[in-house]
Amino acid sequence: MSRVLVIGCGGVANVAIRKCCMLPEVFTELCIASRTKSKCDALAAELKDKTATVITTAQVNADSLEELCALINSYKPELVMNIALPYQDLTIMEACLRCKVNYMDTANYEPEDTEDPEWKAAYEKRCKEKGFSALFDYSYQWAYREKFEKAGLTALLGCGFDPGVTQAYCAYAKKHEFDEIDTIDILDCNGGDHGYPFATNFNPEVNLREVSAPGSYWEDGHWVEIPAMSIKREYKFDQVGDKDMYLLHHEEIESLAENIPEVKRIRFFMTFGQSYLTHMKCLENVGMLSTTPINFEGHEIVPIKFLKALLPDPASLGPRTKGKTNIGCIFTGRKDGQEKRYYIYNVCDHEACYREVASQAVSYTTGVPAMCGALMMLTGKWIMPGVHTVEEFDPDPFLEALDRYGLPRSESHDPVLVP
Ligand code: NDP
Repeated sequence: MSRVLVIGCGGVANVAIRKCCMLPEVFTELCIASRTKSKCDALAAELKDKTATVITTAQVNADSLEELCALINSYKPELVMNIALPYQDLTIMEACLRCKVNYMDTANYEPEDTEDPEWKAAYEKRCKEKGFSALFDYSYQWAYREKFEKAGLTALLGCGFDPGVTQAYCAYAKKHEFDEIDTIDILDCNGGDHGYPFATNFNPEVNLREVSAPGSYWEDGHWVEIPAMSIKREYKFDQVGDKDMYLLHHEEIESLAENIPEVKRIRFFMTFGQSYLTHMKCLENVGMLSTTPINFEGHEIVPIKFLKALLPDPASLGPRTKGKTNIGCIFTGRKDGQEKRYYIYNVCDHEACYREVASQAVSYTTGVPAMCGALMMLTGKWIMPGVHTVEEFDPDPFLEALDRYGLPRSESHDPVLVP
């Protein structure tokens, strides 16, 4: 028996909510709250006769601490699932702390970019200290560790696929396959085709910012930063085939470097087609990826937000997308004195996802782990006061839940390594 408040009702939340409603014995009551209440109402109406979960809806501006606290205090959930945008993470964490409720999200906090010179100066100083220049990093949320611990509350950060399942794969490799891990390569391949010349598979603002930022990886105890898209590799993915992939900065590298301290190198690669990259470069060159507001015919517009309005809604890609995703981790290291390599991954079919939950595989591979993470917390398996990332918890029950609820693992003990 549990009562859960979900904040956000976009592509990922739609999958997570539908999956929660397939387990009404755990998710007894669910409140879907978001900025646009009509989206929550439409989903609730669709699910009403299909689930025993009691669903209510609410309007909330998750940038407002007061509104969040009022909603949490009136609904009294055991868990808040933050599936809005990374900009809201800190406000929602703060509200959970004030209202004494457990918290989880799917992406780490990212401040909204601004042209304020003071903000820019502080940001540049921060980049120098961190060693990488991505706007997002865990330090904002790790600053809450002591407060959550003292309050006896658990905050689970980044429980999607990557971050999320990839870290559970690392914890699993550490627990069962290796005494010592030397290298981790996280490979995120989307072999799907939606038929549009250009579209992003999840929130365009978050996606384009991530991809156009400098890449970086962890090596011998420090960050190595490289120009965006400057390291390219080819890889033959199981059930997808040959793809070009590029080294990106990614948030889980930061927590993995802290939690698996012996690891010598951690890299993250994502596949991109040439058409996507050409469009993105062109949009970047003409200033459409900028977050700086401009005045256009008397109206202030933010170019990347305007671009988001022009691009296909990621939620609309579901019925058009064919093909598969393949996401996983390749490890090298030692077990019982022997050198070994190991690959653990999931293959997910876009069309099968659409048939099941009316969504493509990118939202599916994020929404299912969000539901499984909530399941771990609500059943007490992943309750540990403080602020934690996925690799800090026992991976076994989580991976078993993923196997059962739609994202089964595949393994290879003789994978081809990435040069
Ligand atoms: P969408 O843009 O589709 O949905 C975001 C939702 O949040 C919308 O319903 C939006 O409301 C709501 N929202 C935005 N701002 C506010 C606010 N101030 N108050 C209340 N609600 C708000 O995004 P996605 O579903 O694609 O992504 C959701 C999250 O998942 C993001 O944080 C993303 O970074 C993360 N993600 C994580 C992945 C992983 O593997 N870990 C992979 C992919 C995504 P409205 O409808 O009004 O716009």
